Amino acid sequence: MARNAVLAGKILRLLPVLVGARKGDCLGCLCQAFRVRCRACPGCALCWGRMERPEDRLWMQEALAEARRAAEIGEVPIGAVIVLADRIIGRGHNRRETDRDPLAHAEILAIRQAAERVGGWRLGGSTIYVTLEPCAMCAGALVNSRIDRLVYGAADPKAGYCATLGNLVQDPRLNHRLEVTAGVLDEESAALLRDFFSALRRR
Ligand SMILES: [Zn+2]
Repeated sequence: MARNAVLAGKILRLLPVLVGARKGDCLGCLCQAFRVRCRACPGCALCWGRMERPEDRLWMQEALAEARRAAEIGEVPIGAVIVLADRIIGRGHNRRETDRDPLAHAEILAIRQAAERVGGWRLGGSTIYVTLEPCAMCAGALVNSRIDRLVYGAADPKAGYCATLGNLVQDPRLNHRLEVTAGVLDEESAALLRDFFSALRRR
């Protein structure tokens, strides 16, 4: 058994070399799939930056609370919070219909509030938690506000621009890139959206 584990470790260690991975590349290794950190797998070293941290669920719950606030006012339930030094400095939920503003996405509103709180446009050192994968507009705003890390819940097959349709937040040609962790409390986020749309259809 122990010998098998050693052998598996060796094979896994060779994997990044075989596929020509560079530092920062994600192999989508088993560790990531199962959300555990195993020391045997070199994929961890490559994926670690993209893995969930212990505090991520707590902050994502706050983003989900924002998403619920959006649903309460008849908006598609998407929420975001920005955290700096263990404190929320910006909150936002989708208000597109309410504000009659195509830019009133949760992330944009949270960024504006955070910038006001910080007293400047640079939000370096902060992490944004969003219930749904940001769209191209918001992804651009994240890069422009110099936020360090993005944690999102569900992937968005129709508009997601942080992995799904493209990846604006990690484009090497841009002058700022974010660390990204995806899939945190994604079930809860997807369930909120599902319930919202099925209620709409019943109406
Ligand atoms: Zn957006």
